[in-house]
Amino acid sequence: MSSARNPSMTARLQGFGTTIFAEMTALAQRHQAVNLGQGFPDFEGPPSIRDAAIEAIRAGRNQYSRSSGIPELTTAIAAHQQRRYGLEYDPDTEITVCHGATETIASTLQALLDVGDEVVMFEPVYDSYLATVAMAGAVPRVVTLRSPAFDYDPAALEAAITPKTRVLLLNSPHNPTGKVFSRVELEHVATLCREHDLIAVTDEVYEHLVYEGEHVPLATLPGMRERTVTISSAGKTFSFTGWKVGWACAPAELTSAVRTAHQFVTFCSGAPFQLAVAQALALPDSYFDELRADYRVRRDRLCAGLAEVGFTVLRPAGTYFICVDIRPLGFSNDMDLCRRLPEAVGVAAIPNSAFYVNKEAGRHLVRFAFCKTDAVLDEGIARLRANIGALGGAQR
Ligand code: PMP
Ligand code: GLN
Repeated sequence: MSSARNPSMTARLQGFGTTIFAEMTALAQRHQAVNLGQGFPDFEGPPSIRDAAIEAIRAGRNQYSRSSGIPELTTAIAAHQQRRYGLEYDPDTEITVCHGATETIASTLQALLDVGDEVVMFEPVYDSYLATVAMAGAVPRVVTLRSPAFDYDPAALEAAITPKTRVLLLNSPHNPTGKVFSRVELEHVATLCREHDLIAVTDEVYEHLVYEGEHVPLATLPGMRERTVTISSAGKTFSFTGWKVGWACAPAELTSAVRTAHQFVTFCSGAPFQLAVAQALALPDSYFDELRADYRVRRDRLCAGLAEVGFTVLRPAGTYFICVDIRPLGFSNDMDLCRRLPEAVGVAAIPNSAFYVNKEAGRHLVRFAFCKTDAVLDEGIARLRANIGALGGAQR
């Protein structure tokens, strides 16, 4: 994240500059690098779902939708939560469709946080959270997931909660580490939410990309449905990251708060895409099984390649990201390495320190995305193998 001071910008946004994803994608484009940085697939989602969006446009579904989302989609989200997790939500009063998970998180936090309220979250932290908390005038309290296992110190989590804490924001499966929080960890988180009367906001956009263990929505744990806003989106699950259709499931009172903010942030997401996503969520289980199986193969391919290059690979249990420790190749500064990789090696990646408040905790880690076709993954690996030596890691 570029952090040059901009005198025109509010104090709240100082330091947020340009996102690390935009910076690294621009570098990749400038140097024709293989982009294993920003997480977007270089392949298409299901043809039938693309056709559904085109059909919706042709059929004239092109005006504003209901602010909370078209009924076909809120109904499909309710059916999905029921079928996958046994969670019941009323599509009319407990589900809100927003413009991607990013807006859903922003509207939710705008709706729930007063100035000075505290939000507990784990770092590395997805970049939009800190900016969104700052825009709400609230205060982040981060608990570090410790590499290489990305576990956390339970006492540190307990200590992060103060009388001012209002929200606990949890991302599982977790970007960038690929960690899938275990049931034991989630039970600890849930206990703290209940004891301290916190609202849990969960970001579950990678819910279908789990290769080891299982995805357990926090809302399924005892006493949690009534205090949790569960957020997901269509981008990762259907490989349409540009469609920006996300949603929040929460009990009626929390939903009413989220909707109040959402109607003044974007009012609604793109209507034809909502209709197509409604059809996507109703795809048979085989679609979701194949997606996971395909991604598992891609994960294993890139893990093997990165290990051959000489990195220590921190094998992810979920998401489409792999973190590596750069120190075995003699590097010690992730940002410096990632700024030089596109030109010198022809590959782009994301420096993990961008996701940390305590930057030093992520200095030795770099994230590679495997939501790419085999040929692109192989080309990326080939370039790393051939060229990384020229960066002179051992001397750095
Ligand atoms: N949360 C996490 C953890 C993400 O990785 C992303 C983007 N990949 C988002 C939210 C944003 O999702 P959307 O594109 O639906 O806004
Ligand atoms: N979530 C994507 C990633 O982690 C990036 C999305 C974006 O560029 N805002 O790579």
